[in-house]
Amino acid sequence: MTYRPDERDGGLAAIFAHPDDESFAAAGTLAMAHDAGRTVRLLLLTRGEAGNPERTPDLDLADLREEEMRCAAGHIGMDEVTVADHPDGRLADVPFETLVDEIAAWLADRRPNAVITFGAHGVTNDPDHVVVGAATRWAVERLAESGIAPNAVYVISPVLWPGERRFDLSPEEGAASHRIDITAVAGRKLAALACHASQPDVADEIATLRAAIDADGVLYEGYTRVRPTVPLARPTFYAAID
Ligand SMILES: [Zn+2]
Repeated sequence: MTYRPDERDGGLAAIFAHPDDESFAAAGTLAMAHDAGRTVRLLLLTRGEAGNPERTPDLDLADLREEEMRCAAGHIGMDEVTVADHPDGRLADVPFETLVDEIAAWLADRRPNAVITFGAHGVTNDPDHVVVGAATRWAVERLAESGIAPNAVYVISPVLWPGERRFDLSPEEGAASHRIDITAVAGRKLAALACHASQPDVADEIATLRAAIDADGVLYEGYTRVRPTVPLARPTFYAAID
């Protein structure tokens, strides 16, 4: 990648569902892209208004979560954050074509070099995560027909496994093709997560990441490049098919 501190197009774009997805999934990688002079942009499809135990819409909570998002964006070093106002928890109720159209238009205006989104299980099986990942990949395919697709699409593939199976990942999400050492910016990932104080699972994540750093001295974020796909590094050859 070339160093283009003043680029207006290009750079790295992340497309997720909720304020806090960016910090859980990709804060370290986005911060490193920023430090390397890339333009870093984020598109969120919801304001997170149902991020309470009752999962009921609360507009004050939406305002608070947008503030938390701005706080996290500051630690990460984002150049642009776009927050759409689709219903939190009910992205699947929005016509899929509408989401694809919006994401395609957002990408076409910005022409990022690479895009990060959620894979088929959205890491946590949250339906909003699944929908945003699928809509993003459809949007990229549509742009490809016009010759303006991003050069690469990555899906989140967590490489931190504190438990036996922390997440129920799809095969694609479970096979990180790119493992990014984010140790140098780990403090900023923790600070970005801490911004999302309205979300009770954030404290657990911070504790988990701190424990991983204490144990290994290193912290990773993982991705699978799904467009173009990455060939297996060491193909396995079989003598026969059985
Ligand atoms: Zn989420």
